[in-house]
Amino acid sequence: LLQVNDLHKAFGDQEVLKNVSFQVLQGTVSVLIGPSGSGKTTLLRSIAGLEVPDAGTIAIDSVRVDYAQHPGEKQLRKLTAKIGFVFQQHNLFPHMTVLENITEGPIVAQHRSPEEADTEAIALLAQFGLQGREESRPHELSGGQQQRVGIARAVALHPRLLLFDEPTSALDPEVVSDVLTVMRDLADDGWTMVVVTHEMAFARQVADHVAFLDGGVIVEQGKPENVLEHPQEARTQEFLSRIL
Ligand code: ATP
Repeated sequence: LLQVNDLHKAFGDQEVLKNVSFQVLQGTVSVLIGPSGSGKTTLLRSIAGLEVPDAGTIAIDSVRVDYAQHPGEKQLRKLTAKIGFVFQQHNLFPHMTVLENITEGPIVAQHRSPEEADTEAIALLAQFGLQGREESRPHELSGGQQQRVGIARAVALHPRLLLFDEPTSALDPEVVSDVLTVMRDLADDGWTMVVVTHEMAFARQVADHVAFLDGGVIVEQGKPENVLEHPQEARTQEFLSRIL
């Protein structure tokens, strides 16, 4: 479903992604791990079109963008329309209700009917354990509830691919599992997901594929039982021994 090839990205003279290649099969969950500053967020934001890589290609289904060719807005939009992004900080609009936050994209960007968008948003809220919170404002919710609304907002766009950038790292420990449960349910429903996280239990239990990034390079990738339990590379072993 997603194919990333030879991606390069520098900020000034700092090379943050070097030759990153990565593929994601439909209906699978991929987890990106790695030390702070290794380029995980930059890779995820590049896939989402939020950063412009210097070179390399990103393809989702039959839409392919070659950054060496300086793709235009229109081409990029074809790619980003296929992606739902969940940020570390939920980025909800503070002046809108929960329901409006979720339906804004479908109605404004996708021209779906407000009735249909509302019905779907209400169902998503129920699915995520937030029934009855439609008219709340984001600040009236806990961090974990806000993040679940953030996930509902991404899902409501019916993307082909869901990207999560450290979705639980800004949350109080006691609400982390509520958010991880919602993510696990989405995985069980067959969503294709790429998740940057330090939650190793989630990686072990839910991921089909784990990639370890260090210094802008994918050092090692494969099945979680291989990468997490029997890492081959010294850098992976050292990282895992520090965080487990
Ligand atoms: P973390 O786990 O701390 O979020 P990360 O692996 O996600 O780290 P990135 O956020 O991708 O790493 O950052 C990789 C490097 O790129 C870091 O050294 C960071 O300082 C640098 N960087 C990221 N965004 C920018 C930017 N907009 N301008 C300049 N440098 C940046």
